[in-house]
Amino acid sequence: SPIPDYLKQVLEQVRPNDDGAPADYIETLANADTSKLAVALAMVDGQVYSSGDDSVEFSIQSISKAFVYAIAIEDAGLDAVLAKIGVEPSGDAFNKLSLERGSNRPMNPMINAGAITAHSLVVAPNATAEQRTERILDVLSRLAGRQLSVDEEVYEAELRDADRNMGIGYMLKAAGIIKCDPREAVKGYIRQCAINVNVRDLAMMSATLCNAGVHPLTNESIIPQASVRQVLSVMTTCGMYDAAGAWVSRIGIPAKSGVAGGIIGALPGQVGLATFSPRLDARGNSVRGVAICERLSSDMGLHMMDVS
Ligand code: GLN
Repeated sequence: SPIPDYLKQVLEQVRPNDDGAPADYIETLANADTSKLAVALAMVDGQVYSSGDDSVEFSIQSISKAFVYAIAIEDAGLDAVLAKIGVEPSGDAFNKLSLERGSNRPMNPMINAGAITAHSLVVAPNATAEQRTERILDVLSRLAGRQLSVDEEVYEAELRDADRNMGIGYMLKAAGIIKCDPREAVKGYIRQCAINVNVRDLAMMSATLCNAGVHPLTNESIIPQASVRQVLSVMTTCGMYDAAGAWVSRIGIPAKSGVAGGIIGALPGQVGLATFSPRLDARGNSVRGVAICERLSSDMGLHMMDVS
């Protein structure tokens, strides 16, 4: 197959770009090796292609929000989730303390306020952070096709630096959006963000979304089709935060980024893609990751608004 050579070529094309900087709010991320660069594609038939540092692990961070939204829908039901979390792009930074005017809900599940709320709906309203993260780790591991684990160093560091997310938690509690102890919800959310993955894991997780929630290799139905549609819809409108509009028009693939430098893209019925490079732009999206996705989209004709 010419695909591995092509992927290698794409990596070399974006490698000279050293714009941006790794997230610096915790040391583990600030000290990330910025030379690391990787890409993976997983087809809906289970074929995976990758290039670069494809076995290097990094924390999943906000990419987890897409999958935890699906789990919240499964555990609490779509109506209950929609009553608590909106589906409108916020146009604000991911860690903004904000609620939708009128409804008092977080704007969407891809910003922290919505993601902490989604986390609080996993398992049951009175569940502990341990029970929720165990459930999330189990689903994410089945999606990846191997046992994933939490990076305890990242988890501890994020917990020591959680003032802003704790503030969001208390805001949600005061607004009646979350019912549990806000500290438990934020702790669990931080733990879900600290799960380690590599680009091949992420591509496979994304390919499962592309394959109507059925894992391409194990054939297990992990996410119901109706939930997949909901998740991909909010990824399209909100997955790249306040850069979502530019992303959809330029690249045209439902996507989600994380502050450790990962990005997933999910083109329904076709391919799940994943990239990794730690330097971020001002919006918190990986600079080289965005560049790789732009190349793949244009070279392979992946824009969802294009007719092939
Ligand atoms: N743990 C990070 C936070 O909540 C995740 C954010 C992200 O990846 N954008 O601030």
